[in-house]
Amino acid sequence: MTAETDLGRKRRARRMGRVLTETHPDAHCELDHEGPLQLAVATILSAQTTDKGVNEVTPKLFARYPTAADYAGADRAEMEGMIKSTGFFRNKTDSLIKLGQALVERYDGRVPGKMADLVTLPGIGRKTANVILGNAFGVPGITVDTHFQRLVHRWGWTAEVDPVKIEHAVGALFEKRDWTMLSHRVIFHGRRVCHARKPACGACTLASMCPSYGAGPVDPVAAAKLLKGPRARELAVAAGVDPSVVPAQAMTADVP
Ligand code: SF4
Repeated sequence: MTAETDLGRKRRARRMGRVLTETHPDAHCELDHEGPLQLAVATILSAQTTDKGVNEVTPKLFARYPTAADYAGADRAEMEGMIKSTGFFRNKTDSLIKLGQALVERYDGRVPGKMADLVTLPGIGRKTANVILGNAFGVPGITVDTHFQRLVHRWGWTAEVDPVKIEHAVGALFEKRDWTMLSHRVIFHGRRVCHARKPACGACTLASMCPSYGAGPVDPVAAAKLLKGPRARELAVAAGVDPSVVPAQAMTADVP
């Protein structure tokens, strides 16, 4: 087999990007939010837990703390109780209170819309900053989370392991304007099809372009049973697999 050229990789990545667009027309930021402050809070809470778990606690949290000043002056015990189910609640409470304080002290209570400013805020690293920029400010950003890392490695898009280097390597394969939605689609694929353990290779729309085809079951029936999410049967159809083999519980299963 001849090694893939840089141009070949870029073309294949873009073809995969187009298939992902068709496969996941519902891709979006799965953290419920309105505005940058709520998104910053939800993203901090999402560490080491599912977006669904975060969405269960945020309606009450957002109602209780509508502004940065409310987080800054929050009662620690009360906030810990409200976010306990998301895990690491002491650290997360600490981050949220410090975030509120920093926003009030340095940014007039508003979340800034620049990477250089965002990464100076408590609890906000580059990944979180990209989520905020892409989804609350319309500034294109690539979100390198655990799913994104796993998938771009499986796809041979890059061999880099450092998240910032992955961000730049994948960014070079796509138009900047596509970065935010590409991130959502890759993450959607990782949550619903290309799982960490047992990817659904036999029911995957990317199979013909994926160098890791065979990492999971290639039998269509066995693979289709691994699809997850409300569109699991549509995902099977998109991959040319009989949707009736997708069990009903796949549609209501939690995505990781
Ligand atoms: S073919 Fe398998 S490894 Fe490749 S993207 Fe699809 S599920 Fe993932």
